[in-house]
Amino acid sequence: MSLIDRLDMAVAGRRDDLIALTQDLIRIPTLNPPGDNYLEICEYLDRRLAAQGFQTELVRAHGAPGDSDKHPRWNIVARREGAFLGECVHFNSHIDVVEVGRGWSTDPFGGELKDGKIYGRGACDMKGGLAASIIAAEAFLEVCPDFAGAIEISGTADEESGGFGGVAYLAEKGFFSPDRVQHVIIPEPLNKDRICLGHRGVWWAEIETHGEIAHGSMPFLGDCAVRHMGAVMAEMETSLFPALAMKRTDMPVVPDGAKQSTLNINSIHGGENEQAEDYTGLPAPCVPDSCRMVIDRRFLIEEDIDEVREEVMQILRTVADRRATFSYDVRELHRVLPTMTEKSAPVVQVVAKAIADTMGREAEYVVSPGTYDQKHIDRIGKLKNCIAYGPGILDLAHKPDEYVGVDDMLDSARVMGRSLIALLARD
Ligand SMILES: [Zn+2]
Repeated sequence: MSLIDRLDMAVAGRRDDLIALTQDLIRIPTLNPPGDNYLEICEYLDRRLAAQGFQTELVRAHGAPGDSDKHPRWNIVARREGAFLGECVHFNSHIDVVEVGRGWSTDPFGGELKDGKIYGRGACDMKGGLAASIIAAEAFLEVCPDFAGAIEISGTADEESGGFGGVAYLAEKGFFSPDRVQHVIIPEPLNKDRICLGHRGVWWAEIETHGEIAHGSMPFLGDCAVRHMGAVMAEMETSLFPALAMKRTDMPVVPDGAKQSTLNINSIHGGENEQAEDYTGLPAPCVPDSCRMVIDRRFLIEEDIDEVREEVMQILRTVADRRATFSYDVRELHRVLPTMTEKSAPVVQVVAKAIADTMGREAEYVVSPGTYDQKHIDRIGKLKNCIAYGPGILDLAHKPDEYVGVDDMLDSARVMGRSLIALLARD
């Protein structure tokens, strides 16, 4: 029997184990924020992987945003050395899940198995992917104990809140340096036949317009910051949004609407603060002297971040030319550069072939509209040979009644196992 056939059998034989593992992970409620139970899930993974001969390390991201004694940011990195020198394949999964929200018909932390699907918060995003990668590694170790190189599996904190207490911290400490790790697979729920090469860029900024406070009955004695912001929004509608819609990318971004530059106005606030619900009085009549808007600009690999910023500054200068008292500030809140792994990169080639061989159809290449932990591996770790590949349907992430299909997890575990064979097995 060929190595591939033995691997397929080893994965299929672990079906019950995969279900139990996924359920166990879902039943540890690792809500973020605030960052609950990170130590518990890392200790669970530690027991599991140490029993398979992995050297494990629990790393707390001391001083990272969100890290406190009440909510410590724990991560686990497990490494299994092969019998010979070779390259290292790293599977990175985030252990945190987002809030539950309303509308569930199952227990969000129950891990209920029904009609071949396991339900729960984090089932697809991404405890199912984490479980599939563990099963893939264990099946590979059974059929190929004398491999070359190393396998690493990490469970990391805070992906949903930026990854600074997780992958970013580990990357700063050298865990993703190219002399330690050569291939990275992030089992995010992109579907079992799709390879995610990267993501668009992010530029968040706060625009503030200034005015002058005065009595609301005599607005001519003041200067209304909200009207100034209204002029900014009108100019955005006239010249910015149409220009963004014209910018199309060659990146294979899904869904289709995200193949262009986008800008969301996340919030706008001007004037008197809203009163508490139990306040029964009326507001006071004042001309607002400040208005703030937070914008979320997502940009393409073909765009330069300085040009992205300059576009917004040009809008403000245009408005300033028309309005005598217009004054403003722009504060950058957050930036992430776009990243896209080359299709010729070894990890892409190997996983694409494994998908074609396992599923009997060609892999589809996609790019994510939003960012994920690849940004830190790329920028801090300087590692370009990185993709997201894992089971589950992206549209279910963060929704009520989130689930992951057991057969989908098994198929993607076979793809991951075959990829390990291609990269680490000696013939
Ligand atoms: Zn995720």
